[in-house]
Amino acid sequence: MNDCIFCKIIEKKIPSKIAYEDDKVIAFHDINPQAPVHILIVTKKHFDSIMDITGDDAIEIAHVFSVIQKLAVELGITEKGFRIVNNCGAEGGQTVPHVHFHLLAGRYMQWPPG
Ligand code: 5GP
Ligand code: ZN
Repeated sequence: MNDCIFCKIIEKKIPSKIAYEDDKVIAFHDINPQAPVHILIVTKKHFDSIMDITGDDAIEIAHVFSVIQKLAVELGITEKGFRIVNNCGAEGGQTVPHVHFHLLAGRYMQWPPG
């Protein structure tokens, strides 16, 4: 995906503050943080949205959640809590069409979301 900003971050063509990386997933700090902790957990495989994930690819998403657990422990936010967000499509608020999950923490979250 030539024009995908997150693919460029994965390829290190665009710099980011990386919090975690392995062969399937990269996690980096959001450029416009909405909470004291705002990390994006991104599959290295490009999917436009979660609607494009099928069959064997589900393993990519399962792995995302094990990375989220690891980050939460490292960041010391498991007791106070945190929020995971996936925006899907225009009305869902998705602005970057490459699957990613927001990890937000460090303040009380509101419900319902805006
Ligand atoms: P979405 O709106 O698709 O759910 O989330 C996209 C997120 O990516 C936004 O929170 C936005 O601030 C973040 N973002 C967009 N471009 C960049 C970038 O170049 N670097 C980083 N670190 N975050 C970005
Ligand atoms: Zn991409």
